[in-house]
Amino acid sequence: MTESKKNTAVEAIDISYNPKAMEKKWQEKWDVDQLYRSVIDETRPKHYALTMLPYPSGDLHIGHWYAMTPSDARARFMRMRGYNVLFPMGFDAFGLPAENAAIKEGIHPMKRTFENIERMRKQMRTMGAMFDWEREAVSASPEYYKWTEWFFIQLYKMGLAYRKMSPVDWCPNCNTTLAREQVWGDDRHCERCGTPVIKKNLEQWFFKTTKYADELLNFDGIDWPERVKTLQTNWIDRSEGASVIFKTEKDDHNVEIFTTRPDTLWGATFMVFSPEHPLVDEITAQENKAAVEEYKQQAARQSDIQRGAVDKEKSGVFTGGYAINPVNNERIPIWIADYVLMSYGTGAIMAVPAHDERDFAFARKYGLRIVPVIQPAGAELNGETMEAAYIGEGVMINSGQFNGIKVNTEKGRKNPGISKVIDWLEQKGIGKESVNYRYRDWLISRQRYWGAPIPMVHCDIHGWNPVPDDQLPVTLPEDVEWKPTGESPLKLHPTWKNTTCPVCGEPATRETDTMDTFMCSSWYHLRYLSPHYGKGPFDEAEYNYWMPVDTYTGGIEHATMHLLYTRFFHKALRDAGITEGNEPMMQLRNQGMVLGEDNEKMSKSRGNVIAPDALVNRYGADTIRAYLMFFARWEMGAPWDSQGIEGAARWIRRTWALFTDQTQPGSASEETRRTLRRRVHQTLRKVTHDFENFEFNTIISGLMELLNEMYKAREAGAVGSKEWAEAQDIYLRMLAPVAPHIAEELWTVHLGKPYSVHQQSWPQVDESAAKEDSIEIPVQVNGKVRDRVVVPADAGEEQIKSAALASEQVQKYLEGHEPRKVIVANRRLVNVVI
Ligand SMILES: [Zn+2]
Ligand SMILES: [Zn+2]
Repeated sequence: MTESKKNTAVEAIDISYNPKAMEKKWQEKWDVDQLYRSVIDETRPKHYALTMLPYPSGDLHIGHWYAMTPSDARARFMRMRGYNVLFPMGFDAFGLPAENAAIKEGIHPMKRTFENIERMRKQMRTMGAMFDWEREAVSASPEYYKWTEWFFIQLYKMGLAYRKMSPVDWCPNCNTTLAREQVWGDDRHCERCGTPVIKKNLEQWFFKTTKYADELLNFDGIDWPERVKTLQTNWIDRSEGASVIFKTEKDDHNVEIFTTRPDTLWGATFMVFSPEHPLVDEITAQENKAAVEEYKQQAARQSDIQRGAVDKEKSGVFTGGYAINPVNNERIPIWIADYVLMSYGTGAIMAVPAHDERDFAFARKYGLRIVPVIQPAGAELNGETMEAAYIGEGVMINSGQFNGIKVNTEKGRKNPGISKVIDWLEQKGIGKESVNYRYRDWLISRQRYWGAPIPMVHCDIHGWNPVPDDQLPVTLPEDVEWKPTGESPLKLHPTWKNTTCPVCGEPATRETDTMDTFMCSSWYHLRYLSPHYGKGPFDEAEYNYWMPVDTYTGGIEHATMHLLYTRFFHKALRDAGITEGNEPMMQLRNQGMVLGEDNEKMSKSRGNVIAPDALVNRYGADTIRAYLMFFARWEMGAPWDSQGIEGAARWIRRTWALFTDQTQPGSASEETRRTLRRRVHQTLRKVTHDFENFEFNTIISGLMELLNEMYKAREAGAVGSKEWAEAQDIYLRMLAPVAPHIAEELWTVHLGKPYSVHQQSWPQVDESAAKEDSIEIPVQVNGKVRDRVVVPADAGEEQIKSAALASEQVQKYLEGHEPRKVIVANRRLVNVVI
């Protein structure tokens, strides 16, 4: 107990608040008592609250606190509301940094990773979060990656995993292939080390994510932020149209193109190939060879993003070759240009300069023919004189039997012109309705050691076959050498890759590539259900009770990677009968980013990193938690403010001071007690609403205001009343999710209430108590506010009118006359018209 602090001034700060010892004490007790152990309980509704698992870098940063502690507060709130809440934590433990460090320093990635995990686990415990550590899952442990391998085999058996030779992005520094998502910036650098990537051809494993492209565009039934849905939609980038076969004049080769505008086929006056298109060498005429070769070399040095940039000046060269436009048999020249990419569509396009801005600019630059085929109403386009492409609606012209057909700006079949042309193309056998996506299949292979092995075996006779289930997991060998050779240590290991063919039993070779770590994180929410389960990736009873994830929280930077992969994974596994429902995570909320005090992204090189360990030492976890909830709208984030955290610290200490105060009971007026009760229930209503809606900052400001009200009420003698007791009770229950340690200490020790505050229920708002006695209404005279009147909260319109007219200010303007009109707007405003 604290020493007596009778007559403590409101601003006084109680020095007996010692978070360091107190927080540790409760963390240990909660742990021993298994307070946050979550087990199946059919009598209570479940709530699976998931926050993204960290990579074990070895040091927890403030961004982890920002992601995890408000998520923890929300999970605690749900728990107090009567839900059986699962809030697990684990580590996404495979990946490049540990392996790069191994090459540099010779420390085995396994050793380093598990040491880092140990350290971060300790740091995380200081948050005081309700993580159920019994459910911890670590993706780099064999009991976990056994099932990552097993899932690979399920996808393989479903025909969703395949091998193909493919130009891949290769980081020459990390010596590995990178997924498209791991290549960043206009200079296309490696996400990990910043080195510009180069292209390399390798045979690799892919997952057929594109098979689910359409379904992934459907967000029915899930409550995800619009921004994430838009990012995923744009990433998949679906467009409807037709694929059409053009023929080369020389040797009659088929060249397939995709177009969203088959209605403009008659205006296709040239074709453009990607410089890498396989037919380029063949169609190039002798006299054009030198120029084409030079252009190809130049294009190869640029990145896809540079090449595709909208504002880039378009360039190209003529191959000397021609194609035949299949709709009118016209002979059209074939050019190559770097803005046509092999990685999008078919690597060849038809160019319709009259109706496409890019084609128009290209045609004007190189003097190519422009033939309008859509005529706008009331104007006549002329290919010689047009100043820009026309992309609006109109009527088809110069298009044979289609002349006169109306074309609008709708896409695909919704456009009558497009629809009719597609039917005709299909009838003639020169094209068909088609959908194109920018979305690519997921490249899974990594030429690295520190990942889940791809459980496939190659036999010269039987090709590729999965490792039989009873031989899983294929474990990583520990005795490997760390050499910066660019080859995986698995490939260089003398014996590891030697095995037998599952079909014939003859000597065979293991796949030495490992899986992209996004594969591990696609299903970690399932491993939490039963992290030590040996008969499958998860215990079905746990799945049936806990899944789907009810609330998922994490950074928006994962929108087109993890958050898309995990949806794909769930849908594919659903089709295999392993998971249920269409989506793994029903509600998603993204937190923003904590920037450095200099408003820049935190980085060691900038020296603006805020280390949570030092803050815990100085302020205690409760204060950091409160500050992180308070200092910004959660989804926005903000720069760290070392002055700002003092405000949160002061609020926590003032809470401590008020609750540990020994003021003797007083005798407060009925109005004081009624006002206190009203403020308590109004705050409760607001805090409840804000928790439901992830509006953490206003939870804290609401509690701060209520604390001020409680100080006022104490001054007015409220201590000892039942309203005071209720205020203390409700305040601590509301504080518990935010600042779990101090709430427990004050609740259990100082108020002597039953342990634990975290097992109490969320209080109910007493609406009648929350109701205002009176309301203040501004009064306007001819539209200008002249006064405010106070009326009973339940006052009717007539009562409000007479109060307004009784105002001295209003009387002054009326000068003894009757007003022309008195308007009461929604009980919020009175306007007196004179
Ligand atoms: Zn790199
Ligand atoms: Zn064989």
